[in-house]
Amino acid sequence: MKRIPYVEISECQGCRSCAAICPEVFQMNEMGRYAQVINPYAGSEDCILEAMASCPVRCIRWAE
Ligand code: SF4
Repeated sequence: MKRIPYVEISECQGCRSCAAICPEVFQMNEMGRYAQVINPYAGSEDCILEAMASCPVRCIRWAE
């Protein structure tokens, strides 16, 4: 089964890196202050892993 990513919003710095790397999964919220998962089933796991690795505060995680 495909793993589901989520953003720990309270830790997000709003750098936009994840949304730039994997826009089908991550987008900034309307104010651009934090990222959110718009479609956890879109995008490849490699793309999500790349977005996770790019996150400066490592606040993109897999749901249990
Ligand atoms: Fe937030 Fe991390 Fe995405 Fe940057 S890469 S917008 S800190 S979740």
